[in-house]
Amino acid sequence: MSIFEELESEVRSYSRGWPVVFDRAQGSRIYDENGKVYLDFFAGAGALNYGHNNPMLKKALIDYISRDGVIHALDMFTVAKRDFLETFNETILKPRELDYKVVFPGPGGANAVEAALKLARKVTGKESIINFTNAFHGMTLGALSVTGNSMKRGAAGIPLVHATPMPYDNYFDGTMPDFMYFEKLLQDSGSGLNEPAAVIVEGVQGEGGINAARLDWLRGLDELCKRHDILLIMDDVQMGCGRTGAFFSFEDAGIKPDIVCLSKSISGYGLPMALTLIKPELDVWGPGEHNGTFRGISPAFVTATESLRTYWRDDELEKSTKAKGERIGAAFQGIVEAYPETHLVAKGRGLARGIEFPDGELASKVCTAAFERGLLMETSGPDSEVMKLLPPLTLTDEELSEGLAIIDESIKSVLR
Ligand code: PLP
Repeated sequence: MSIFEELESEVRSYSRGWPVVFDRAQGSRIYDENGKVYLDFFAGAGALNYGHNNPMLKKALIDYISRDGVIHALDMFTVAKRDFLETFNETILKPRELDYKVVFPGPGGANAVEAALKLARKVTGKESIINFTNAFHGMTLGALSVTGNSMKRGAAGIPLVHATPMPYDNYFDGTMPDFMYFEKLLQDSGSGLNEPAAVIVEGVQGEGGINAARLDWLRGLDELCKRHDILLIMDDVQMGCGRTGAFFSFEDAGIKPDIVCLSKSISGYGLPMALTLIKPELDVWGPGEHNGTFRGISPAFVTATESLRTYWRDDELEKSTKAKGERIGAAFQGIVEAYPETHLVAKGRGLARGIEFPDGELASKVCTAAFERGLLMETSGPDSEVMKLLPPLTLTDEELSEGLAIIDESIKSVLR
C-alpha cells in the first residue's frame, strides 16, 4: 500500500482516475515519476490556462523570490499587490470599461463566492439567492447552498438553505421560453418565492457538464435582474481568464454583472489566488468584515501581473482560443456524427469543450482509455456523463492534433 492510500483520506478523488505519481510538468505536458509523459487536457481544472511552469511567469516568480520579496502579507500594502492592481486595472478593467473595486477574499474560488453572497445580502438586506440547475460554486457551506450536485450537497451534513434553483439555459431542451418560470414566480405575489438578493450564474457550467449558456440567455438574465432589482453575480472562477476566449466569459454577451468571482487561472501559475470584483456602490464592507490569513500571497500577485502583461495586452490569445475551440467543436461534431446510434452531444464554448455520453460509465471508460494513451481529461455533469476538455490556452496546434487523435482512438476503443 502506498503512503497515499495509507495516510491520505478517502476523500481524494483525481488520483483515483490517474493512479500514477506525477513529478514534473512543462507547458501542456505533465510527467509521472517514471518519466511517462501525458498531454494535460485537464490543466488543473482550469487553474493552468497558460500551461505548467510557464517560462515567462516562472522567471518573474524566481526573480521576486531571489530578491527576498515579501511572500505573505495578509492585506497589507505591498509592491507586488500594487503592481497587480495597476496592471489589472490598465489591462483588463479599463479597456473593457468595467468599473469594479477588488476584494481579496481568501485564496480559492469558494472564498470568492462566499464574499459575493455575503456582500449581496449585506447590501440588499435580503437573504435569498437564486442559483441554477447543475451549478457548481464550491464546497464551503454558502457556496454549496447554491450548488446543484446532490452528492456534494449531501456531504454538508446540515440543511442548505436560502437558495432557490431555477432552470439554466436549455434545461428543457429548448421547449420552454427563456425565464418563463423565473419571471412568473417573481411577478406572482402568491408564488411563495422569497425576494432574492442576487442571482449567481456561470457563463458556461464547467462542473455541471460543459453547459454553455447562449449569449442571448445571459443578456436576458441581465435584463431580468435589472427589471426586478436583483444583483447579478457572475461566477467566472472556472470560465474566466480567457477560457471561453475573452478574458471574462460574459464579455461577448455585452453585459456588466454587479459582482464577479475570479480564481483558478488568475494567478496564472497555479498559485492560490481569488478576487471578488464589486461595483463601487456595493462596497459597503466595514474594515475586516470579510477576512482571512491568505489574502495577500505575493508570489501569486507576481505571476498574475506577469500573465496579464504577457497575454492580455492584445487580443492574440483571445483569437487563438476561439479558433482552437472551433477546431475542437468541429472535430467533436464529426465524432457525434460518426456514432449516430450512441446519441452523443458536442458541447462547449472557447476552450471549454465536452462530449456528452448516454451515461457516466461510458464517459469514464473513454477518459480511462485516453489516460492509458497518455492524455489527461476528466468527466463532469451530474452523472459524470460528460467527457470534459480544458486544455491550456497556450497549447500548440500540434498538441491539439495529438490530443484529438488520442480522443478519437479512445472513443473508438470504447464504442467499437
Ligand atoms: N466556482 C466555480 C464555477 C468553480 O468551477 C469552482 C471550482 O471548480 C469553484 C467556484 C470553487 O473553487 P475552489 O475549488 O477554488 O474553491
